[in-house]
Amino acid sequence: MPEFCAAYSCSNRRTVESKARGITFHKFPRKDMRKKWERALRRKDFTATNTTVLCSEHFKPEDFDRTGQIVRLRDGVIPSIFSFPVKPQKVSASKVTPRFPSPQPLGSAPPEEFLGVLRSASSRMDMMCGINRARLGPTGAIRAGPTRYR
Ligand SMILES: [Zn+2]
Repeated sequence: MPEFCAAYSCSNRRTVESKARGITFHKFPRKDMRKKWERALRRKDFTATNTTVLCSEHFKPEDFDRTGQIVRLRDGVIPSIFSFPVKPQKVSASKVTPRFPSPQPLGSAPPEEFLGVLRSASSRMDMMCGINRARLGPTGAIRAGPTRYR
């Protein structure tokens, strides 16, 4: 059964990969301590169950007892490391995988924006040629400047 971390904006779950990264999952304690954990999570209307877990990323290194075979939390520790929306940039940069717009189907016609760019590029070219023609046109000499005739 997959186990997901209950912390806000944390997507860790118990997988081979998370295990390789050294992430451990810890069930909520009972009674008063469970209330303290729930409050620490700051999730609205959140109630932990007997299967709710938090991953080890929300605890300080000194919160763990790593002396035994299994990494366990010391008695009385409260999760203290969370990414609340105060720093959304940091969270999205490290947690969110880049999402690309849905790919164009293969063999489809070039997208309309692309044709539009081509069209506007060629019309801009015409405009520039027109300007050049006006400058260098047959009347160019006369336009050299009115000062000459004073
Ligand atoms: Zn977590």
